[in-house]
Amino acid sequence: MDMRIGGIFTPSESEHSFSVMNPAYNTVHETVPLSSHADVKHAALSAQDAFAIWSEEEPIFRAKVLFRAAERVRSESASLASLLTHEQGKPLRESINEIQGFARVLEYYASICSQIQGDYSYSKAYGHSFVVKNPVGVCAAIIPWNLPALIMSWKVGSALAAGCTVVLKPASTAPLTCLRLGEILDDSGLTPGALNIITGPGTVVGEELATNPHIAAVSFTGEAETGKHLAQKISPSLKRLTLELGGSDPMIVCADASITQAAAGAVAGRFFNCGQTCVAPKRLFVESSIYDSFIQELISAMQHIVPGDGMHQKTTMGPLNNLTQKEIASEQIRDTTDAKQGSIRYQGRLGEHADPSGFFLPPTLLTDISPDAPVMQQEVFGPVLPVMPFTSVDEAIDLANNTKYGLGASIWTTQLETVHKIAPSLRSGVVWVNQHLKVPPEIPFGGVKGSGFGRENGPRALDNYLEEKSILIKL
Ligand code: NDP
Repeated sequence: MDMRIGGIFTPSESEHSFSVMNPAYNTVHETVPLSSHADVKHAALSAQDAFAIWSEEEPIFRAKVLFRAAERVRSESASLASLLTHEQGKPLRESINEIQGFARVLEYYASICSQIQGDYSYSKAYGHSFVVKNPVGVCAAIIPWNLPALIMSWKVGSALAAGCTVVLKPASTAPLTCLRLGEILDDSGLTPGALNIITGPGTVVGEELATNPHIAAVSFTGEAETGKHLAQKISPSLKRLTLELGGSDPMIVCADASITQAAAGAVAGRFFNCGQTCVAPKRLFVESSIYDSFIQELISAMQHIVPGDGMHQKTTMGPLNNLTQKEIASEQIRDTTDAKQGSIRYQGRLGEHADPSGFFLPPTLLTDISPDAPVMQQEVFGPVLPVMPFTSVDEAIDLANNTKYGLGASIWTTQLETVHKIAPSLRSGVVWVNQHLKVPPEIPFGGVKGSGFGRENGPRALDNYLEEKSILIKL
């Protein structure tokens, strides 16, 4: 499959390509162009040309294009989901949800296109003062492989709604669904070149986007170290930057919570997408009086997880997306147990549809955990759940905040008083109560501390792509 530049499928100038693997079998599924700096420059110019047209379209026109694209995506969700599972690995039903999520985000931004409003004030001294909001120009979006369609929609939906044009760089291990979604957006009436999608290594494409003079803003989602490196590359040009980085979300379960509901929530949240979700509950803290029974509930729920090829109906958890990811997660478990900072309490089995050459890892429950264990201090992007007991709310808060990350957190309790005590003390961008991992497009989402800065979703996400101009009129 080729890249998308100027509204059409385009090969790389170099004519080189690279393989996109199916992680369930470690076999080649497709090839895509290995783009060079010249290809990225071409895409940035194409977006620059399209900006002159797309930014001038009436908001209602932009809304119609986004609504139309969402409708087409919904009607093609079966084939899009299959493509997503083949390149990313997740079970088909998770892929269908993600594709529907893409459509929902586009619909949300379509619904607020016309609500971009400026400001007005009058004073005798300065006259009539207007504040108008204009699209910033060409925006770059750099995204990871874990939720490629959803994260594409967060960035592309809001930028296009604001009147900006985009150069999107998907992850090298999951670019195909993004390319197909880009084709659907183009076929829905987007100005050719308003959305360009470039495939190739982050070291080439990402770095060209960071320094290219036509790019006004960059929105990045990915690993913290990549984000920091990108920020350094970008700083000399003073481009706008949003960083959505990793997370190590705490989940705090109080003794008064529903044990069954909380255990089901922990297992669903942690093992969804084979544990490769930025806002999965990655560190579980359970009040000591219910700790033993909670562990039993967790094990019972984990026994139902069936790792295998995501295309198979019985599969409930796919492989990891790539070999590196499998090796990192395996090492984090090994480092923790070797250092006697945790032990494996339960490990599931691979299902009959888990091919030995695929990147599978069984769901793993770790107990006897030290707060300093590698699985507690590093982000674990795999099916691993470490659990620790706590004896007081204050201890739970300290444990929860004992991380460099600050993306999400959840509290499981039936007492509103407990919510009011814990929620304000958690250093995270999102706090859920009796739920985790819910990211509706209407609500701002993003992190604090090492999880980055800036917010996606919600009406103010459009401000990432708008700049204010103040006009003071005295006649
Ligand atoms: P990476 O940081 O490795 O990659 C993310 C993107 O950056 C990819 O497109 C990658 O390209 C690109 N990239 C790599 N090197 C550079 C570079 N030097 N300059 C510019 N771009 C570059 O992250 P992963 O793909 O491994 O994704 C997992 C991470 O993403 C986890 O930490 C996870 O928590 C985080 N994440 C955060 C979310 C949030 O909203 N906060 C949501 C989802 C994930 P290539 O693939 O070619 O290497």
